[in-house]
Amino acid sequence: MSTERTGTAGADRLVLATRNTGKIVELRHILADASVPLEIIGLEEFPQIGDIAETGLTFAENALIKAHAVARASGLPAIADDSGLCVDVLNGMPGIFSARWSGRHGDDVANLNLLLAQVSDVAQEHRSAHFACAAALALPSGEERVTEGVLRGLIVDTPRGTNGFGYDPIFVPEGESRTAAELSAAEKNAISHRGRAFRTLAPLLAEVIS
Ligand code: IMP
Repeated sequence: MSTERTGTAGADRLVLATRNTGKIVELRHILADASVPLEIIGLEEFPQIGDIAETGLTFAENALIKAHAVARASGLPAIADDSGLCVDVLNGMPGIFSARWSGRHGDDVANLNLLLAQVSDVAQEHRSAHFACAAALALPSGEERVTEGVLRGLIVDTPRGTNGFGYDPIFVPEGESRTAAELSAAEKNAISHRGRAFRTLAPLLAEVIS
């Protein structure tokens, strides 16, 4: 494993391929719960790493592409995730196109409104969907692991809630009456596709990086 050490923590470092602080904090909690003593750093420590094209056809392929690119560029083990919403009546779409469903990457409101319009004539009992997430680990040596997590639920007509992001205001997780945007961050992390994929990856990290 890498012999690089941090100045203060003394733990081995792992890069999470994101500039989203929320994702970094979530992964730190998950690794601490799994007693994996790694220090997570984000891409802001590597300004030379630009956008990585997500050219894969599945969440797992995209997560692996990003993790390998960051492991190669940083010389450290890297984790990347890729996620999206899969709506059954739309044959699993938006899927890997979730972030750019309306044509503009990252326009959450436009993406959500387009999806609502597409399912507007579909009866509530046929609006099943799931969030999916693949979490990939890549080492500079090329070794890799990938895990997946899902959160099943239903698409509702009217957006509710202000927490979360993306399609959360129109997604009611199975067993819940609130939308994902009405859950607290801790409540969502406990059941989310991303939480599940990261929690499954945590013990594999300890195995591979030793
Ligand atoms: P990314 O994997 O973080 O790039 O997310 C891809 C896209 O999928 C996001 O832009 C959202 O539109 C959607 N998405 C993924 N996870 C979630 C979630 O937990 N809640 C709401 N939308 C999500």
